[in-house]
Amino acid sequence: MLHQRGNLIVVSNRLPVVLSHETDGWHVEPGSGGLVTALAPVLRDRGGTWIGWPGTSADGDIESALTSLAGKIGYSLVPVRLTPNETAKYYEGFSNEIIWPLFHDMQSLCNFDPSYWNVYRDVNRKFAEVVMRTVGNDDFVWLHDYHLMLTAKYMREMGFKGKIGFFLHIPFPPLDMFLRLPWRAEILTALTECDLVGFQTMRDRRNFVHCLRAILGGANYCGRGQVCGLTTEHREFRIGAFPISIDFGYFSEKAHSDEVAECAWQIHANLPDRQIVLGVDRLDYSKGILHRLDAFKRLLARRPELQNHVSLVQIIVPSRRGIPEYGALKTRIERAVGEINGRFTQLTGWIPVHYIYRSLEQTELIAYYRTAEIALITPLKDGMNLVAKEYCAANSEESGVLILSEFAGAAAELGKAALLVNPHDVVGVAEALHTALSMPLEERRRRMGSMRQIVRRHDVFWWVDTFLRAAFAKDLSNFPVIAELPT
Ligand code: UDP
Repeated sequence: MLHQRGNLIVVSNRLPVVLSHETDGWHVEPGSGGLVTALAPVLRDRGGTWIGWPGTSADGDIESALTSLAGKIGYSLVPVRLTPNETAKYYEGFSNEIIWPLFHDMQSLCNFDPSYWNVYRDVNRKFAEVVMRTVGNDDFVWLHDYHLMLTAKYMREMGFKGKIGFFLHIPFPPLDMFLRLPWRAEILTALTECDLVGFQTMRDRRNFVHCLRAILGGANYCGRGQVCGLTTEHREFRIGAFPISIDFGYFSEKAHSDEVAECAWQIHANLPDRQIVLGVDRLDYSKGILHRLDAFKRLLARRPELQNHVSLVQIIVPSRRGIPEYGALKTRIERAVGEINGRFTQLTGWIPVHYIYRSLEQTELIAYYRTAEIALITPLKDGMNLVAKEYCAANSEESGVLILSEFAGAAAELGKAALLVNPHDVVGVAEALHTALSMPLEERRRRMGSMRQIVRRHDVFWWVDTFLRAAFAKDLSNFPVIAELPT
């Protein structure tokens, strides 16, 4: 799959492991998730290393625990040690108080603290140092996400001549948003040190080129497909759009398992004669949860005949507990849920909103995917949104309806068969819910069948393979034009 001789070196903010400290020392378990599932076989087959922060600043012999896990999983794990001050300023500060809100078009939430920038630079240099101790010039280094936008530059300064790829998992903002970043030129220049810079959608890729042209001057395309060359004054490199995906086979099979069926039966039994609308989000202001609750409230008010017959199950996974905005958002969501339930709950036992604030076991999550007639996925902005794809993969009866925000990256691929909505238009979202609730089975099957085919064909293994091929292919004409976002 990797079209060259060397090893694959994956670098991300976090190592894909779960560490725990017991009385006899550090223990480590492999992490889960689509990215690890997709990269692990390549790392094992080609020989590889994953580099990242292990998730703790505590002292102690983490290396031995990582080495013993590496023996089991078939590739090496190398930690980048960070102090509490570094994680506070590079991760919680620069990454999550500046880049995350800015790249999700929420400039008012940014805290442009200059001390965050200094530590972000230092930590990116530290990552580069660890990579340089591990890497050979034949190896391919694949950097992941907005935490590591300067790492390639430091690696080049330290003498690395081999190939570097970078993939941005979150959106790349439009020019007028990116311009506000005080360190905009340094970040763009550093990204041009890569050989391939990948984005989720064609729109993100275009935004990046607009910013390059406006801030650094001249950047000419060579080719028009999913992957193309870009020539700037200093360098030639490649850019591409690679919509990340899920392990379709896993979700589709698991949805048929006995344990999921049993769990789905329980959910049904507790919500008899109700159509279930499902929301699943990490607690984050980019997910549009308050707008969604407002839309659901309007639906119940404008269409009272639906009361008693439809419930919203809203699952929220706790996230970024240390940041004050997230605590405030949780309070506002809980108040909004309370208001809806206080206003509409009836003697029949019907409750309009079932609110779950915790991370679910995968069996339970997939059971909700299988049970829900409608998935209501309305982020204000989202790099991709894997929940949308997981819902389709788990929906083997092909009767579910996906209501999807125009501003989720997934809309580029699924937009023709999903019901697309503008999440700010709460009346429009309420109407889409009504349309979905009354959609004939034949139409639901046609739409869901088409979305499942897309996700099946473009799963996360396709994503890894396409990125690696794009880094090494001689001829880019094999990467045809791909779907664009509707807006
Ligand atoms: N998820 C989870 N536990 C839950 C709910 C969701 O592990 O209780 C997972 C879900 O399966 C999905 C991920 O969280 O893979 C959310 O990814 P998405 O791209 O939708 O949003 P992100 O959180 O990355 O912004």
